[in-house]
Amino acid sequence: MNWISNYVRPKINSLFSRREVPENLWSKCGECGTMLFHRELSDNLNVCPNCEHHMSFKPRDRFKALFDDGLFFEVEVLDPTVDPLKFKDQKKYTDRLKTATKVVGEKEAMLIAEGEIMRTPVVGACQDFSFMGGSMGMYVGNAIIAAAKRDKKNLTEESADVLFHMLVMLSSCDVDFKSVLKELERREGKSGLIEKSERKN
Ligand SMILES: [Zn+2]
Repeated sequence: MNWISNYVRPKINSLFSRREVPENLWSKCGECGTMLFHRELSDNLNVCPNCEHHMSFKPRDRFKALFDDGLFFEVEVLDPTVDPLKFKDQKKYTDRLKTATKVVGEKEAMLIAEGEIMRTPVVGACQDFSFMGGSMGMYVGNAIIAAAKRDKKNLTEESADVLFHMLVMLSSCDVDFKSVLKELERREGKSGLIEKSERKN
């Protein structure tokens, strides 16, 4: 403990306790309420030095902390069709997107980056909870596809895993894989919606 911990910090806490926290410079620990200077917090990887509470990370800060020397490249994500379902609850989905973009300062709820961890090339996907609670919209789907495309070997291995488990399941249920292929042939060229409506009839 020193005079900063004993005197300055409590003073700052009392000063800000009933006022709004100034943006960017100070953050309040959600656990112990200590006011933390942004540089102190980022140097400690967003962990409160007072109570060790782990605070949320913005995607770019997470990548900076994760990749060697804080170096990474952001991977481009294709823009999806905006709101094809014309979704609306209390507000229009498109309005919610506009507000989130403005407030958070990010295009969408996920960021993809490429870098190295201990000199091993890695592609990372980081979701931003402050953007509509990390909304799993079409953009996030496109982002995951963009990430997977960067690492074809890994995608091949993961797909082989999925397929292997699928084959084991089919075999244990005594379903021939050929009948699955036949079902896929039947669906060829049809949109998912049309095919599903046909199955109901
Ligand atoms: Zn704390």
